[in-house]
Amino acid sequence: MWVGGKALSSGKTYELRLPYDGSFTARVAEGDETSLEAACSAAAAGAAAMALMSNAERSDLLFRVVSLLNDNAAELSELLTLETGKPIKESRIEADRAQQTLIASAIVARELTGEAIPIDGSPIGKGRLAMTIREPLGIIGAITPFNLPLNLALHKVGPALAGGNAIVHKPSEQTPLSAIRLAQLFTEAGAPAGAYNVVTGDGAKIGQQLVRDPRIRMITFTGSVEVGKEIKNNAGLKRVTLELGGNSGLIVDHDADLDLAVSRAVPGCFLLSGQTCLSVQRIYAHESVLSAFTTRFLTAMEALQIGHPMEESTDISSLISEAEAKRVESWIEDAIKLGAKLIKGGKRTGATITPAVLQHVPAEAKMSCDEIFGPVVALNSFSDLNDAIHAVNETPYGLQAGIFTRDLTRAFDAARRLKVGGVIINDIPGFRADQMPYGGVKNSGLGREGPRYAIEEMTEMKLICWR
Ligand code: NAD
Repeated sequence: MWVGGKALSSGKTYELRLPYDGSFTARVAEGDETSLEAACSAAAAGAAAMALMSNAERSDLLFRVVSLLNDNAAELSELLTLETGKPIKESRIEADRAQQTLIASAIVARELTGEAIPIDGSPIGKGRLAMTIREPLGIIGAITPFNLPLNLALHKVGPALAGGNAIVHKPSEQTPLSAIRLAQLFTEAGAPAGAYNVVTGDGAKIGQQLVRDPRIRMITFTGSVEVGKEIKNNAGLKRVTLELGGNSGLIVDHDADLDLAVSRAVPGCFLLSGQTCLSVQRIYAHESVLSAFTTRFLTAMEALQIGHPMEESTDISSLISEAEAKRVESWIEDAIKLGAKLIKGGKRTGATITPAVLQHVPAEAKMSCDEIFGPVVALNSFSDLNDAIHAVNETPYGLQAGIFTRDLTRAFDAARRLKVGGVIINDIPGFRADQMPYGGVKNSGLGREGPRYAIEEMTEMKLICWR
């Protein structure tokens, strides 16, 4: 753990193992009530120090961390692979994106502004001036999932510190290594002691203590719907942003560039073994291109190399645990029992599942209505675009959706009618540049990330009115 600018232990530890083969990775401090208490006290001092810094000073601090992230990119990438089991080349991409997220936060820190209010626009405002400024909230509690532990942490830490707050971060118990290293780098860059604190340990215990602590002004959570609901129920008057799960749909229309669509859809379905909130879980291809799309898609899948996550050539490695792989396997079996046809993959060895393609998945299968979080996609066809849009919308989730078409009218018609937080035209739902507004509707969440948007949620608007 990293609290008040230095390492903290609780006397208890737990073991991390590489999900791919169960080999030993690290021993990690297991935080308890006392550790969280220490983190909140340290964060109170950190928040006071952060609030005294100017926007330019906060921005400079974040730029110094960007530079350290760059210097330590190889080590961070290795830590990411050891804790998640994701292929090393994917970890490098995440380490690089983490820098982009922090650069965007550093820029936003410099531009944080209020507005002039046209106060004399109503009779009562005559002879007055008014403006708003943004002030830090104080201490923000961040809870993050296992799949992109560094970049998703920075989507919270970056805007929180840019806005002059301190943060207490509880990473996933499975992936604490990159968070601890990140906090060390903030200290090395000169962040005030207590500005960024990491407490590792059990989600239900530490996470809930964080959610209930009265010193915490806001909880920013990324994770499952189930935990998101519990957090919302227990957060009282705290602000809450929730980045939750998805069940993303991709439409491939009759006039789509099929080579482009296939080259993007294959990684969109299977990278990180489908363990991203934006993984394509359902593809709707127009009936006139279904056969050509399917043939090219299955051929492109052949090139995916499955193996040890540290191998340079590996595209797909294990899921986060064997238990998760067994769950995904059982969802595939459930779909097959209900009438689906498995046309490729879906074989499990330990925690690894080969990328799987299903057809004719019925609406009542778990795979159709819930988030599988595994390397599995359901391939469907449509004849009328209205039906495809309806089908994409027909889930409790609404994170992002994608459509491949060369027809502007159809693209924008779909964009208006898809019930999601973001529509990606001529790319997969998983496209995300880290500065863009990002978040879901329906069960996919509340609020928006992307530093420019997150900083609005992480600061308080204050009105100043002068007579
Ligand atoms: P999870 O909900 O199991 O855990 C997320 C975090 O919550 C972890 O740090 C965990 O320790 C903590 N936690 C667990 N129980 C808790 C409780 N009762 N109270 C407070 N905290 C608790 O999620 P996961 O398995 O780590 O990640 C997968 C999920 O995250 C998927 O549903 C995925 O879609 C979602 N996700 C969403 C986004 C997004 O941006 N929308 C991004 C990545 C992942």
